[in-house]
Amino acid sequence: MFGIRVSKWGMADTVKYLADAAESGKPHQVITANPIMVMAALEDPLYMEIMKNAELVVPDGTGVVWAAGKAGNPVQERVAGFDLLHELMKLGEQRAWKFYLLGSAPEVIQAAAERLQMLYPGAKLAGWRDGYFTADQDPEVIEAIKAAEPHILFVARGADTQEPWIAKYKEQLGVPIMMGVGGSFDVISGRSKRAPKWMQKLRAEWLYRLLKEPTRYRRMLALPKFAVKVLKEKENLG
Ligand code: UDP
Repeated sequence: MFGIRVSKWGMADTVKYLADAAESGKPHQVITANPIMVMAALEDPLYMEIMKNAELVVPDGTGVVWAAGKAGNPVQERVAGFDLLHELMKLGEQRAWKFYLLGSAPEVIQAAAERLQMLYPGAKLAGWRDGYFTADQDPEVIEAIKAAEPHILFVARGADTQEPWIAKYKEQLGVPIMMGVGGSFDVISGRSKRAPKWMQKLRAEWLYRLLKEPTRYRRMLALPKFAVKVLKEKENLG
């Protein structure tokens, strides 16, 4: 899509691929793409590089699923990052994988870690820390993650920060699966809510977030721009 390779797999195939990746010992960056991120990539060559270099880009946003269909190159289904996180935790239980959780406010990540440990007692939480640190703290954050030797690292620092951060330190971190999870820990900790199922079915999860956090409207201006661009360029979308 506009030069970004978006996976066509549904959830089951995505998890199957990532199960092998988790045990491969090689680093994989997983990006859960939405139209805002695609537009950011089209406006910023560095962000585009990151999207292109990711080992797997899954269609998280409804708009991405819609665009693939419009271009006559449909994806199987939406693969929401939040659901993927839970699927990986579930599989991690059976396979005794280690997880590291990075990001969100200190009390949020603490509560999210406790909740995930309760939901998936067989998965090992090798460590967690909040996402409010500066670039000069990066080395100590990386050392702590490396020492924990996780199979999977979830990073929640907002899409404009988490994906570049993972990309920058991908080789150094060397974690088999590294995935940005945005506001997921806020939901898992109970601090915020995900859109109700009926709204997800209506493909209006984005609208729910806009209503809950009106300050998001600025970045959401990218949505109509994305739609227009897709309709104009659907013949050569990729
Ligand atoms: N966050 C963080 N460090 C920061 C900025 C944000 O850990 O410097 C966390 C924030 O607390 C939240 C998560 O990143 O838990 C996602 O933020 P946001 O909803 O802005 O994510 P986006 O929708 O941009 O992916």
